[in-house]
Amino acid sequence: MLRDGVKEELKKIAGETNVSFSKEDLICYSYDATNSPYPPDAVVFPRSSAEVSSILKLANSERFPVIPRGAGTGASGGSLPVEGGVVLSTERMNAIIGIDADNLTAVVEPGVVTWEFQQEAEKFGLFYPPDPSSLKFSTIGGNIAECAGGPRAVKYGVTRDYVLGLEVVLPTGEIVDTGVVTAKGVVGYDLTRLMVGSEGTLGVVTKAVLRLVPMPEYSVTVQAVFPSLRDAASAVAGVIKAMIIPSTLEIVDSVSTRCVEEYVRIGLPKDGAFLLMEADGTKAAALGEMERMKRICLDNGASRMDEAVDKKAVKDLWKARRAISASLYRIRPGKINEDVVVPRSRIVELITGIETIARKRGLLIACFGHAGDGNVHVNVMYDGKDEREAAEAKTAVTDVFELVLKLGGTLSGEHGVGITKAPYLGMELGQPLIDAMKSIKKALDPNGILNPGKIFPRSHAG
Ligand SMILES: Cc1cc2nc3c(=O)[nH]c(=O)nc-3n(C[C@H](O)[C@H](O)[C@H](O)COP(=O)(O)OP(=O)(O)OC[C@H]3O[C@@H](n4cnc5c(N)ncnc54)[C@H](O)[C@@H]3O)c2cc1C
Repeated sequence: MLRDGVKEELKKIAGETNVSFSKEDLICYSYDATNSPYPPDAVVFPRSSAEVSSILKLANSERFPVIPRGAGTGASGGSLPVEGGVVLSTERMNAIIGIDADNLTAVVEPGVVTWEFQQEAEKFGLFYPPDPSSLKFSTIGGNIAECAGGPRAVKYGVTRDYVLGLEVVLPTGEIVDTGVVTAKGVVGYDLTRLMVGSEGTLGVVTKAVLRLVPMPEYSVTVQAVFPSLRDAASAVAGVIKAMIIPSTLEIVDSVSTRCVEEYVRIGLPKDGAFLLMEADGTKAAALGEMERMKRICLDNGASRMDEAVDKKAVKDLWKARRAISASLYRIRPGKINEDVVVPRSRIVELITGIETIARKRGLLIACFGHAGDGNVHVNVMYDGKDEREAAEAKTAVTDVFELVLKLGGTLSGEHGVGITKAPYLGMELGQPLIDAMKSIKKALDPNGILNPGKIFPRSHAG
């Protein structure tokens, strides 16, 4: 609970209309995509880094938690106030400060919605590739804090690869500029990289200098249908082995396809799995690459291949792809959504292993995702009212993580640790590494006020 004096101070810092203690707001800001509510004591909407700094200084003197928040689409509980405190929403810091077409860079505030930034960059013939499926509502700040990726990561990389520099308010309230505005820079430790993916635990991003690339001249999109997910996964491994780097190589299983088709109704296949493949670049290069990928798909049993003939067809396919996650609730009210990654050559083993786990646990596990990166969204479906199913679902997640680590993979490619994966951190990282990470946290946030209760399991919280 916040003292009345603290509430008054927050109003003084951000302005009366930029702080809320209303029950409605506290409920709204207690959620993210994990659907497990933790109500804050206040929500504050700062408009400048100076205001963010004052809020953090107050938090240190009064010892209350501050939880940075973008759009609240996070899939690991990163923006949830698990210990109460003040949610610091960046939604009113949403200016695109400038796009510098001469230097292929842009400066933006953290609350800018990723899609809106991409549309603005496009007006200059420029391209900001990171494209999480939540891009129409998630923010640049949230993408940076989670190092978001998306379908285009297979060719273009993830958010980290587009961040040149940051303005960050450290947990103790100092405002620092990390990185550079130039194309290169190696002066001092690379704190930009440290901040990217730090899940709002090491600082609040208040500005970002982003790298842009020229818009590709041409792009071609093909949907390839396979009798089984395993065949589709073999084709993915074949594409990578042939040293083709498409701009997108997404895999979707039959459960996901059926669910999403009921919503989008664009004629997706009723049976089997499909790959959504894109190649871009010059027209000749993109078409040539796609021809090679189609041949590999045929060699791996593809039964049908449909090219998206116009912009509407491309848009429909992407609308379907981005709606899969939400559509899965049609089959079960509960979903544990993991985003594991394995070396790309082992993707068939991952898919086969997950099929075995689903059979063993008597569960439906829907798989889709960025197969070209070896990054598969594994959705363990269950009904929370069915005790057996809920318990099996939890065990299935551990089974999947064990399998992934055995295959040389990692537990999360995009969603981060947050609270949902904190209990599993020790499965992947050794204690000395966890201790080193905790020392960094302690050095930057001695009072533990910034986003406490995240990443480290409770027994490691320290
Ligand atoms: C339907 C759906 C599809 C998704 N698809 C993808 C996908 O393809 N790829 C992917 O990577 N993720 C995906 N996600 C997960 C999520 O959208 C991303 O993690 C996204 O980057 C979160 O952005 P946000 O603005 O919603 O951040 P929030 O959820 O509000 O916050 C996420 C984390 O960032 C921190 N944070 C937010 N703003 C700041 C800031 N300014 N400074 C410091 N820390 C900050 C928060 O404290 C929290 O830890 C998906 C989610 C949904 C619901």
